[in-house]
Amino acid sequence: MPELPEVETVRRGLHELIIGREVQKVVHDTPKSFPNAVADVETFLIGATITNVRRRAKVLLIDLSTDYTLVIHLKMTGQLVFRAADVAFGAGHPNDSLIGELPDRSTRVTFTFADGSHLYFNDQRKFGWVRLLPTIEVPNIDFMKKVGPEPLEADFTVEQFIEQFARKKKSPIKAALLDQTVIAGVGNIYADESLWGAKIHPLTKVGALTDKDFYMLYHELRAVMNLSIEKGGSTDRNYVNAEGKKGSYIDFARVFRREGQPCPRCGTIIVKFKAVGRGTHICPNCQKL
Ligand code: ZN
Repeated sequence: MPELPEVETVRRGLHELIIGREVQKVVHDTPKSFPNAVADVETFLIGATITNVRRRAKVLLIDLSTDYTLVIHLKMTGQLVFRAADVAFGAGHPNDSLIGELPDRSTRVTFTFADGSHLYFNDQRKFGWVRLLPTIEVPNIDFMKKVGPEPLEADFTVEQFIEQFARKKKSPIKAALLDQTVIAGVGNIYADESLWGAKIHPLTKVGALTDKDFYMLYHELRAVMNLSIEKGGSTDRNYVNAEGKKGSYIDFARVFRREGQPCPRCGTIIVKFKAVGRGTHICPNCQKL
């Protein structure tokens, strides 16, 4: 599943490529992927110019000159691919559709711009969607109201971070980190990597963590997510970013999918086990319960 750094990679790529382009035509297959009224599409999407590309948690927001916004959730297997005569960009779920001929069997929505370029929303498993909404209504949709704060915002402080966990004292820290209502966009890789960085066992109860633990975790989480964005996302196969480079963050992971290898800090062999329903990687020496 694309995680926050991958969606941010999509956002940055599209932000550079699609702003100012005018939507000329849109076609879709299943209404589930594009649940919008024909009249709205004709009035507020066709002929509109793209003015901004934003992100909230793992949701992408493409603003239009009509004061409408395309709200895009990639879910499990969504990806966005932009193709023009002189440039190609794709990111999201890693498979060959990122680099193959489009549209293909996974293409759910095709946007054609007035200059002949295209934006494809591909989604093999059809859990993702593209909704057209008035920009002003976007903050009111259910998901937006429930989702926690953005961990990478410059003004997100360690005090706010700690406060978000206050109602989760009995929960294992890994479960709380993965809870999207606590912090937005933290997935399995980033939970494991940041807990290792902060030397916290994933099953430690939130209530047992000290302020120093939280301070470490806050910094580790931000560092690891920023590193991942720099590297173009965490995905480890068939992944391309704006410059056609494969995402390489997974090469830099210190515990995630490193079971059987030595901990980079102490040399103890990293182990994998199941915790809070997820494959979990720790150094048993650095992260004691
Ligand atoms: Zn270690």
